[in-house]
Amino acid sequence: MNRAVIAIHGGAGAIARAAMSKEKEQCYVQALAAVVASGQTILSAGGSALDAVTEAVRLLEECPLFNAGKGSVFTHQGTHELDACVMDGHTLDTGAVAGVSHIRNPILAARAVLKHSPHVLLIGEGAERFAVSRGFEPVANNFFSTDERWAQLQRALGNQQILLDHDSGGQHADGAPLDADRKFGTVGAVACDLHGNLAAATSTGGMTNKYVGRVGDSPLPGAGCYANNASVAVSCTGTGEVFIRLLAAYDIAALMTYAGLSLQQASERVVMEKVTALGGSGGVVAVDRAGNIALPFNSEGMYRGYGYVGDDAVVAIYREA
Ligand code: ASP
Repeated sequence: MNRAVIAIHGGAGAIARAAMSKEKEQCYVQALAAVVASGQTILSAGGSALDAVTEAVRLLEECPLFNAGKGSVFTHQGTHELDACVMDGHTLDTGAVAGVSHIRNPILAARAVLKHSPHVLLIGEGAERFAVSRGFEPVANNFFSTDERWAQLQRALGNQQILLDHDSGGQHADGAPLDADRKFGTVGAVACDLHGNLAAATSTGGMTNKYVGRVGDSPLPGAGCYANNASVAVSCTGTGEVFIRLLAAYDIAALMTYAGLSLQQASERVVMEKVTALGGSGGVVAVDRAGNIALPFNSEGMYRGYGYVGDDAVVAIYREA
């Protein structure tokens, strides 16, 4: 028998060297717990995994603590370009948008692509026009801006870095548990519903100081997001370029399907061995049809949480002792 469950992430990264503020840590813990709880509510009412992950990611996009929707990082030009993907493991239906600058909730636009278009992935202006045609209200690009992300871009420009997993070398004290300059703030969710259907969703502002036009793994099915009832639902966060080259999310599914690995073995093989072998860092949240979950990461921490229907939400940031 399956157990309905939702698992989420708000990005992986390094522990902050700056003085860590307990209050800020509490903000992250509370935000993650509230998102898990909303997913549990949907699932316990018999809602679909697809609805649960879409709503969880929408809430994470709305939360400026995470690099998706409001609070997204800046490109080299000081703009925002957002990517998102959602996939239904039951039908393999998928919707995604990339490089959008005026859509408040890219995950809802991705869901609209899945539901109302014959396509899987729409980019830039075309994606925005499609969203408007579906009744989305466009927002100004600076809707996504926050002072913290602007300061982060200035540090990155000063260091001439595209902030993947690089050391910032900067002294900053935003007080967050994971170092804002050495973390991936992509958000994502995976779920298994009461009917045993799987779904995955991922949304991101990408990398600080990224080239304009750069697209990461998050909106690419099989790279940063994948769901298939036959194996697993996966949402990734980390060095996008490495996750793309490995087709990381799909590789976890393939290791389970073709090599007979368990969820835990397959996700750890990809995150701890294959991603690191190519110099990448990050993590995934993954769930199989029995409701088993795996949340491996190869960085010092990952904002994460999960909740089985009927149980309390569990939230963690650092590696457990
Ligand atoms: N994987 C994302 C990207 O490459 C970044 C992240 O996980 O924060 O755009």
